[in-house]
Amino acid sequence: MADQKNVSRRQFVTTAISAAALSTLPARYVLAGAPRNTPAEGQVPLTDSPGWKDQGIENLTKSPHAKLRDIPVRAVTITTGFWSPRRDINVSKSIPSMHDLLESNGRMNNFRRLVGKSNAPQIGPVFADSDIYKWTEAVGFVLQSGDRPQLRATTEKMIDEVIAVQEPDGYLNTYYQDDRKSLRMLTQTQTTGHELYNIGHMLQGAIAYYRATGDRKLLDAGIRFVDDFLMPNYGPAPKKPIVSGHPEIEMGLIELYRITGDKRQLDLAGYILGGDSRLQLPERRTIYMFSGTPFTARTKMEGHAVRAMYACCGATDYYMETGDDSYWKTLNLLWNDMTTTKMYVTGGVGSRSDGEAFGDAYELPNFRAYGESCAAIGNMMWNWRMLALTGDAKFTDVMERALYNGINSGMSLDGTLYCYRNPLAFDPSTGDKIRNPWYDVTCCPPNLERTFGSLPGYMYSTSADGVYVHFFDNSELDWRLENGVGLKIAQKTNYPWDGDVEIKVTPAQASEFTVYARIPGWTDRAQVAVNRETISGAKPGQYLAIRRRWSPGDTIQMKFEVVPQAIEANPRVADDTGRIAIQRGPLIYCLEEIDQPSGVSLSDVAINPGRRPADQFQPEFRNDLLGGMVVLHHSGAVYERPASDKILYGRYDGAQSKTRRVPLTFIPYYAWANRQATSMQVWNLLQT
Ligand SMILES: [Zn+2]
Repeated sequence: MADQKNVSRRQFVTTAISAAALSTLPARYVLAGAPRNTPAEGQVPLTDSPGWKDQGIENLTKSPHAKLRDIPVRAVTITTGFWSPRRDINVSKSIPSMHDLLESNGRMNNFRRLVGKSNAPQIGPVFADSDIYKWTEAVGFVLQSGDRPQLRATTEKMIDEVIAVQEPDGYLNTYYQDDRKSLRMLTQTQTTGHELYNIGHMLQGAIAYYRATGDRKLLDAGIRFVDDFLMPNYGPAPKKPIVSGHPEIEMGLIELYRITGDKRQLDLAGYILGGDSRLQLPERRTIYMFSGTPFTARTKMEGHAVRAMYACCGATDYYMETGDDSYWKTLNLLWNDMTTTKMYVTGGVGSRSDGEAFGDAYELPNFRAYGESCAAIGNMMWNWRMLALTGDAKFTDVMERALYNGINSGMSLDGTLYCYRNPLAFDPSTGDKIRNPWYDVTCCPPNLERTFGSLPGYMYSTSADGVYVHFFDNSELDWRLENGVGLKIAQKTNYPWDGDVEIKVTPAQASEFTVYARIPGWTDRAQVAVNRETISGAKPGQYLAIRRRWSPGDTIQMKFEVVPQAIEANPRVADDTGRIAIQRGPLIYCLEEIDQPSGVSLSDVAINPGRRPADQFQPEFRNDLLGGMVVLHHSGAVYERPASDKILYGRYDGAQSKTRRVPLTFIPYYAWANRQATSMQVWNLLQT
């Protein structure tokens, strides 16, 4: 204790208890001095295969129902291109500044308090611990792309402070230790208290950190919670019931199972996904939580969007391990419901701020859109799992839509400000401050950081017969086929600004396998050649299977037509009636007031895409603007309607309304509100 006289008696007693607790932990968990990834005496050896260094975002190596296997994050180096500024700033600015904010907002003092090292009261919401774990996961992914001793030292100090408060029975949660111990794991606490949500994030953070460094310390603490506290006491009768108040533990348990091989962890996830009928929870609660009733009985997307996405991730993971067909049926039903009636054109989900929830079918308001950054990330994570199951490019298309738009908008270009909501229209006069460095509910910032940190791991997968190319950016893969043949792939491209991608395939020795090259669903024309010889069969929205005997240096040339497109919504989307959105490549474009001639109000402009939108919107690469981007110029119309404070309704007089041409400039949606938050809209009035 640094300052004895400031330590209360209660805290002193807590400290003494914690010190005693640590010294009485079972021998198998004593890790001090153990070399990395080497079990200490009595410690549970991990049975994971491949070893920690070779595991991907998910370790699907032994998942019997996965068609594709993740490659390790470290196998891909993303070089200069679209994502590198984002990833650099994530490491140099976002992760360090978020660390400082987590500290200054008391998130670590919550841990220190319990061992008498802080006098600060418990601060933040019930899920405050998860902010630390998500940040740790972001660091874990970053360290998989290269060691950073200082960042690693900072993180290890935090990990030591986290595990110092773990109780002898494995329990760990700063909110329900000490004063609130009696509330622990009560049904009411499980539905709203996020205890298992926190542990799910702890497991994910611990696993990413383990895969970066081989360091088991946090992972072992997670195993202690699961094996010593959770499994002996909670589960099917006669144990006490579990309800997943905010799904997340399901994914954590299954990824843990993929490391330990302990099937009880998988079974526990299955039990949680099934819901426990002993609890008799009100229907409005099970809808909101997207849990508490059998996952396989669900028929539509509803309730809290992030909860629904994480539940779907867990259920897909469960299906990849078990092959239980009722899950497959439900997952498809939910995916179709979401993508045909409840997803924004940006890949964002969650229409309502009330309950941060999915709305009814086609309820997709623009100004009021919630589109939480976490929900778009959850959408991408779920589709990644569906893709691994099937190899179907329709899932990759949704991932790309979310990643380049509804996720990428969530972090400012300088890496220090974050959106919680990602609306599709914005009016600053409402007083809404859209980008902020910190939220008391700060789920989104570290979620964005872990996503950008993990990007290399999403670019490729392997399958029994070859390799899948999912995403395009300048990059180098150094990995191997599933038959063990070494494989390097180098991509050269300006994607998404243009659609030319060159992919150099270099197996360690000439061998026959299939390269599944993704043809994005948004393009109308795609040409593919190998060593300049045209390959037929490229279809948008599919992987083109190129099977041949590949020799080192063979090169695939892909050319996707990238032109401005006018997008219309299903007529049932009332908010988009008479409006269109502009898309170019994977990017959704928006009008931001700051780019338009002064005095032009976005509510009065209309655009005319003509028969060939490609002719009506002129692309220009602007190196000087917002990190470099293609803007679109368009000659639109502005309706001059003199505003009056006096009347709300008046007679429409066509003769008096005047229309004039106005030059409009569109920017990619992800970049909006990076200068100042001015009016913005994605769906624009159609000029008739
Ligand atoms: Zn969030």
